[in-house]
Amino acid sequence: MVQSIDNLNKDLFINGQWVTANDYKEVINPATGEKIAQVAQATKEQVQEAIQTAHDAFKPWKSLELKERTAYLHKIADLLEDNADRLAEIMTIEQGKPLKEAHLEVLSGAESFRWNAEEARRLYGETIPAPNDYKYEIAYEPIGVVGAITPWNFPSGMITRKLAPALAAGNTVVLKPSGDTPLSALAIFELFEQAELPKGVANIVMGSSKEIGEAFTSSKLVKKITFTGSTPIGKALYAQSADTLKKMSLELGGHAPFIVNEDADIDAAVDGLMAAKFRNNGQVCIAPNRIFVHQSVKDKFLSLLTEKVEALKVGNGLEEDTKVGPLIREDAIEKIKKQIVNATDKGATLVTGGHRLTGDTYDKGFFFQPTILDNVNTTMDIFYEETFGPVVPIITFNTLDEAISMANDSEYGLASYAFAKDSKAVNSLATQLEYGMVGINAVNISNPETPFGGVKNSGFGRENSHLGIKEYVTAKFINTKFL
Ligand code: NAP
Repeated sequence: MVQSIDNLNKDLFINGQWVTANDYKEVINPATGEKIAQVAQATKEQVQEAIQTAHDAFKPWKSLELKERTAYLHKIADLLEDNADRLAEIMTIEQGKPLKEAHLEVLSGAESFRWNAEEARRLYGETIPAPNDYKYEIAYEPIGVVGAITPWNFPSGMITRKLAPALAAGNTVVLKPSGDTPLSALAIFELFEQAELPKGVANIVMGSSKEIGEAFTSSKLVKKITFTGSTPIGKALYAQSADTLKKMSLELGGHAPFIVNEDADIDAAVDGLMAAKFRNNGQVCIAPNRIFVHQSVKDKFLSLLTEKVEALKVGNGLEEDTKVGPLIREDAIEKIKKQIVNATDKGATLVTGGHRLTGDTYDKGFFFQPTILDNVNTTMDIFYEETFGPVVPIITFNTLDEAISMANDSEYGLASYAFAKDSKAVNSLATQLEYGMVGINAVNISNPETPFGGVKNSGFGRENSHLGIKEYVTAKFINTKFL
């Protein structure tokens, strides 16, 4: 057994206490298929208790001297940095990604806490020109209890980028992490306890996602829902929230295009694609999923790419030379296989990969070969369906207008990427791609200081940047007449 997981608290954290449950659910290591822990499953009453507790903690927390509130956030950032090795190990064991990626993710969480602690000090209000003897002001105030629901692909990062701005702005939180990766969430809550965050300010409940989702959306005490996950669940939560009219942030699915223009720096484009596509084994909402390559550079691009993809070492994320870990579950393998069969049946060519990895330790986990599909077109499911795995579909184009039009032919609008040099081409890409984020000759689009979020079926709301904290406040207009 692994000490970091054995020592971890597996209960609910409500009102500053670890609370046991009637029922416990197993967590699986996707690299080995082993059961690694059992975590508490909250009853309906316990979920209500967590919401009530967060409600009770709201006034004292928002009224705390700003300096004191932000000191807690800095303390949490320190603890995340100090415990990064342990948290990374826990994450790799429950989620599969290589240890180095897990480590960076924990550190990015520390950065989120620092960034938002500072942003809380810059939540400037405004004054508006007013008639004589009047003052018109805008004040930004916290909203209240925030219900946060997060996915398994970034078991730590998706939590920190929500909780940091929510808490910094003076809100209190009830978190429901993914049932596949609750251990990273519990490890973060242990750090909240060590930071002596006031009781009830941050609570964690695990259990039936449907029940907890309904408890959040129907509650009059929960004022805001922040959700990262799939588009169908995001839409369901949006519909469920109509009655109680919640403020919402929805960070949903993506199906990012990656355009390689005829004048692109091909080496840089291949390196950019490798970094963005194979991070977390392609299980990333901003992973490039449709690679549009100009006809004239296609052979060079494909040959360089194939060489690099075939050199990737797939394995257990705890092993130092592993570049790509397992997929999260068995059904993820089935979904990818289905997309590949559908594409090859309709004329796509399998350049490399295409199969589950078997033999030795691969048999126990959910491993899939890094795959390239050539001659992909719009008749294939993979062109439109989000691919959450290590598959690179190549689509050839002749003019940039054609590439942009195909890139925009998607229900999603989260991330997009393009490699080009000509300034007119660069401008067309920046202005015409219908996405919340555009990386041009660059693939890093996720930083504490830059806005992250999408349009269309990728949802709405922005995380990170100076806009992130604004999702957790409400603007109050104050009209004062001086007598
Ligand atoms: P998911 O199935 O939608 O689950 C996300 C979260 O919602 C989990 O905590 C899940 O809990 C919970 N959930 C499931 N059904 C629910 C319900 N009926 N009511 C309330 N909550 C419910 O998504 P996932 O498979 O974990 O994550 C992958 C998806 O997230 C992809 O589509 C990806 O693109 C998207 N994503 C988007 C972003 C972004 O920033 N836009 C970032 C990362 C991921 P359980 O796991 O316990 O069922």
